Amino acid sequence: MADFTIVGGGLAGCSLAIALHKRGKDVKVVDRGDAVTSTKVAAGIVNPITGPYLTKEPRFNEFWSHALKFYRAFEGLVGETLFREMSMVRLLDSEQQVTKWQSRLKSPSYQECITSDALHIGDEFYSEFGGFTIECAGHLLTADFIDATKRFMGDQWQVGEVLEPEPEEMTIFCEGVNGLHNPLFDWVHFRPAKGEILTVQINDLKEDRIVNRGRVWLLPIGDGVFRVGATYDWDSNDCNVTAEGREFIESRLKGLIKVPYEVLDQRAAVRPVIGTRKILIGIHPGHDRVGFFNGLGSKGVLLAPFFADNFAAHLCGETEIDEGANLRGNL
Ligand SMILES: Cc1cc2nc3c(=O)[nH]c(=O)nc-3n(C[C@H](O)[C@H](O)[C@H](O)COP(=O)(O)OP(=O)(O)OC[C@H]3O[C@@H](n4cnc5c(N)ncnc54)[C@H](O)[C@@H]3O)c2cc1C
Repeated sequence: MADFTIVGGGLAGCSLAIALHKRGKDVKVVDRGDAVTSTKVAAGIVNPITGPYLTKEPRFNEFWSHALKFYRAFEGLVGETLFREMSMVRLLDSEQQVTKWQSRLKSPSYQECITSDALHIGDEFYSEFGGFTIECAGHLLTADFIDATKRFMGDQWQVGEVLEPEPEEMTIFCEGVNGLHNPLFDWVHFRPAKGEILTVQINDLKEDRIVNRGRVWLLPIGDGVFRVGATYDWDSNDCNVTAEGREFIESRLKGLIKVPYEVLDQRAAVRPVIGTRKILIGIHPGHDRVGFFNGLGSKGVLLAPFFADNFAAHLCGETEIDEGANLRGNL
């Protein structure tokens, strides 16, 4: 019998399994093996300054340094490169954004993320409002991260669906958006956000940084191939690709680059968002042997390592659950 059964082997479940294993615990992961999941479809980008208001996650530095250590340590265990630190160019797209960025720049917390050099960006991009270069960005090969965890766990990774907790074991549900259908957590306010993403070939673009123009980003993955996205649809809950999704991304891409491209692939999945983008971890208020780790939203790569370690440390009696993320404190 394992010390912990983790239900769901996405970014949340894998990170928690690694964090518990690190603490010497016997862990089993049971995963349905769905071909399409949020983690398998995700771009895997870490971006410190996001959205039209150029907002920096207040605890970014803490989460970022934790994530770097976590992924590097796991890479050491499995002998594989999974996470790469990358530069990201953020292009501004209006006069209002230029003004907003000038005011953001008064804060040292923003200054420390960016280079002081002048922006260098190729003529292939529309860059009429300028921009800046972010240093602390990165990219996780999310599907490879799952595969590496699976190999690392060996027989302790099982394919199957868990519908209720194992009676004898501590069961932690890391089900992503499927948590929506778990009756034990029907009081959690899930707000799933479907996302679509394209893979494109752009032969005339030599760019090895992530380039982001707010409503669209371009991630180089090698040999002139880029991932580009993504949509946010708060009304659909399926993983079907749509003509509207493709059209939306392509229209944004045409506002970012001037060179031709060819669409190679289109994928869709649903991000597990809870409430106002809240990550929740902890023990069920009515069941001491049932846990929950969900709500990674659109920042799973940045958040999963920190909260997996925090939850694992709590489960091993080492620490309290991070105040803002405690399931019991957020009913
Ligand atoms: C288009 C798109 C782009 C994205 N881009 C980024 C990005 O650039 N950066 C970023 O940080 N995040 C991004 N995300 C978000 C990221 O994918 C999520 O934050 C993260 O992957 C969620 O991981 P999870 O483990 O909670 O859920 P999932 O990845 O959905 O994993 C849940 C797993 O549990 C299994 N499961 C569910 N229920 C059961 C059960 N009862 N029994 C057994 N198995 C079960 C499922 O099969 C699945 O394997 C993106 C998401 C999308 C859709």
